[in-house]
Amino acid sequence: MSPRIAFGGFLHETNTFAPSKAGLDAFVQGGGWPSLARGEDVFEAVRNVNVGASGFVETARGLGWEMVPTLWCAASPSAHVTAEAFETLLSELVEAITAALPLDGVYLDLHGAMVAEGFPDGEGETLRRVRAAIGPNVPLVASLDLHGNVTQLMVDSADALVAYRTYPHVDMALTGSRATTYLARLIGTAKRDAKAFRQIPYLIPIAWQATAMEPCATIYAELAALEDESVPTLSFLPGFPAADFADCGPTVVAYGATQGDADRAADAVTARVLASEAAFNGKVFAPDEGVLAAMALAQGATKPIVISDTQDNPGAGGDSDTMGMARALVRNGAQRAAIGLIVDPEVARQAHEAGVGATIKAALGAKSGIPGDVPLEGEFVVEQLSDGRFVAPGPFFGGSRMNLGACAALRIGGVRIVVASRKAQMADQAMYRQVGIEPTEQAILVNKSSVHFRADFEPIAHSILVCAAPGPMPVDPSVLPWKHLRPGLRTAPLGPVFG
Ligand SMILES: [Zn+2]
Repeated sequence: MSPRIAFGGFLHETNTFAPSKAGLDAFVQGGGWPSLARGEDVFEAVRNVNVGASGFVETARGLGWEMVPTLWCAASPSAHVTAEAFETLLSELVEAITAALPLDGVYLDLHGAMVAEGFPDGEGETLRRVRAAIGPNVPLVASLDLHGNVTQLMVDSADALVAYRTYPHVDMALTGSRATTYLARLIGTAKRDAKAFRQIPYLIPIAWQATAMEPCATIYAELAALEDESVPTLSFLPGFPAADFADCGPTVVAYGATQGDADRAADAVTARVLASEAAFNGKVFAPDEGVLAAMALAQGATKPIVISDTQDNPGAGGDSDTMGMARALVRNGAQRAAIGLIVDPEVARQAHEAGVGATIKAALGAKSGIPGDVPLEGEFVVEQLSDGRFVAPGPFFGGSRMNLGACAALRIGGVRIVVASRKAQMADQAMYRQVGIEPTEQAILVNKSSVHFRADFEPIAHSILVCAAPGPMPVDPSVLPWKHLRPGLRTAPLGPVFG
């Protein structure tokens, strides 16, 4: 008889300092993710999408497993998951898994950095309740985002945690597949691998976590080389440095045939990360400085200069509506420049009412009320309109079906602005093209993204600059008003010590 395996997903990356919380609607909608799906609909929701669950489904099908889909949902990164959303969705997930018993295994597609109201360790509570429902002997394996802040409760509750190894996360589905292959080892046997868990004593800014850059490139190459029969799965998670709870930070999780195997692998990766502390560092430009540098570079370039507007990255909890970089482009007279997304449903509606070719007067963006940020007021030409529905085929979104609501391309001087009604991270060229802006023909592109944009934009970029305009995700985590970290943690590489 083929193994009967339940699977589900519940993903959120929580920036506890961000302006808006994630309620039930945010999960029903999904943001840049597939919308909430239940039962058999989960298969269609995750089909051909770059998420862990799609890798699970493909691999489980190949293994001939009987799959029991339960609930899959995700929301755009933001502040806390509300108590209502957390209880409603987690209860439904646990009830669906319980109803599916008896089971030979469970796979969960989780993020690892969810902070819910009342439960700062969202995934710890999720895995604890699922474990309680299925009992100690049913194998439970979860895949995690590279930004997960792993806790002891998570490690204790799951038989294995398997994390992405790329940022941009082009391996989300692949990680689901790796977790499934590992789960297959546990089915029908009582044997479990030994676990080793290490917490790294400093936070790593997300801008310097890119895995094609050093020091991560070397860390991940060495990590992959350490896996073998005695260390079947090994993960390093640089973590998400904007979740204010005791277990925020980078971690290493290793599984070994013996405790010695697991410890040896975990200690080797930990030593390399500790030795790399000073290398998690790079140049950050002020807005005007960055725009002027990009304009100078563009003189001799045949490809766009791409600027990361890193502090308003919606992938880190920003609302994608701060205007510091747009203002710097306009103020410095940048030409053939484009920026996106600016999420402002009111101005998008105003543009749709006025029509293509019209000029509208608007106070654009800055609705999330970030200190130091104000709307960009002026007259904008409506160059193109769209309903915001399109496919994002680049390597990060991997074919996701986007629904950004009413969108418009507005022009002010030489600057074109992609205005959207719903937020998603600017990590795919199609997000410009859907309103008629050809990204490869621009001199300067400003993307509201910290790292994920690199997957689709590096190939068309002359060079990439990181700029820091006022926003909810400081490029330097040590400036955040931390309250709940563990004492002794350094809040940046070689940075100040908390507590
Ligand atoms: Zn991530």
